[in-house]
Amino acid sequence: MKLLIANGHLIDPTEGQNSGKNMLIENGRVVAWLGQNESAPEDAEVFDATGLIVAPGFIDLHVHLREPGEEHKETIASGCAAALAGGFTSVCPMPNTMPVNDNAAITRYMIEQAERAGLANVFPVGAITKSSDGSELAEMGEMKAAGAVAVSDDGRPVPNAGIMRRAMEYAKDFDLPVVDHCENKSLTSGGVMHEGRISLLLGLKGMPALAEDLDAVRDVILAKETGARVHIAHISTKGAIEIVRRAKNENINITCEVTPHHFTLTDKTVEGYDTNTKMSPPLRSEEHLEAILEAIKDGTIDAIATDHAPHHADEKALEYDRAPFGIIGLETAVGLAFERLVHAGIIDLVRLVELFSTNPAKIFGLKGRGTLKVGSIADVTILDPDFNWTYKVSETKSKSKNTPFDKRNFTGASVATIVGGRIVYRKSVERS
Ligand SMILES: [Zn+2]
Ligand SMILES: [Zn+2]
Repeated sequence: MKLLIANGHLIDPTEGQNSGKNMLIENGRVVAWLGQNESAPEDAEVFDATGLIVAPGFIDLHVHLREPGEEHKETIASGCAAALAGGFTSVCPMPNTMPVNDNAAITRYMIEQAERAGLANVFPVGAITKSSDGSELAEMGEMKAAGAVAVSDDGRPVPNAGIMRRAMEYAKDFDLPVVDHCENKSLTSGGVMHEGRISLLLGLKGMPALAEDLDAVRDVILAKETGARVHIAHISTKGAIEIVRRAKNENINITCEVTPHHFTLTDKTVEGYDTNTKMSPPLRSEEHLEAILEAIKDGTIDAIATDHAPHHADEKALEYDRAPFGIIGLETAVGLAFERLVHAGIIDLVRLVELFSTNPAKIFGLKGRGTLKVGSIADVTILDPDFNWTYKVSETKSKSKNTPFDKRNFTGASVATIVGGRIVYRKSVERS
């Protein structure tokens, strides 16, 4: 099976590549880069990428796929279909399933469900502690052997510094990155939005930025002490960003990701009490958003991850205080990044590819991904920076519809997704 991606603009930061090239794929691998006048095998299927960007497959380090246990919200198959529609060839589901992914059997089950679906690649994140209850370490080695690529207790971050220290030492032995949702719960208990002027005005209980900053400090110090690879999930505060920036200057092994909603929205959008503006960490104020944009630009932020968190409409229909945290995000991430980052002149396309592909692959150690160099796995995301489209959640591939971005117009999209050399998604072409 041969596929020639012809006439495209090939961007691969791992090879310093940023110009027109044809790419030949055979049996799921990249086998050659060719000049655009060079002849290619005649029996190859041709994908015409004229006017399009050809990039290594996008990898989402942070999703919630709800299987096993909450298949009414999402399944591994539906989540993977949404991933492909959004341009992601690989997704890394967090362990807060029911039961929690704290053992090899569940890790293996998730991978098998993904293989059965035959859509995107799934690289599970295992729990740090058993049932993510913060007390006893999970069997990281067994989960790694079963295919887990990192460990995290995401929404229930390990509160005890002693246990987190041991977790980092243990994870380091298995060369697994530790992903932390930085939130000191003693400061956020009962909170539903960012603590500040707007939470006061709305009379909603706030979650202070301080809660994120404190845990980020703890994690940086523990990372330095243990030498573990520590990755901060969905960074959202000016303080935490400054802490990561300083840690990187000291060569501490720390990386971080940001979500598209944190670089596009602020707590002002909570004013309508739409529960699709309720997430954890919460949407922050303008000064935090400015700090995030600066950190995306200067390289302090390594990756964009969606924190795709499907919830059933009935749950999100509750009043603001009672609704669950989180929004879906797989299908809007690339559009939002084009809008707020690329077309706004904050980053260029090479940096976009680093944030969505090259760096995520490095952070979780996904060999043969995040690159299109000859010999690598042929996971490819094809982008059209000028594609005008409207996101309609009624047409989402996800089983849930909790998004604040319904009916938003975008310029720039992923228009085709190739996994292991197979074209698994093409956006219907209705260019305007
Ligand atoms: Zn989280
Ligand atoms: Zn999450």
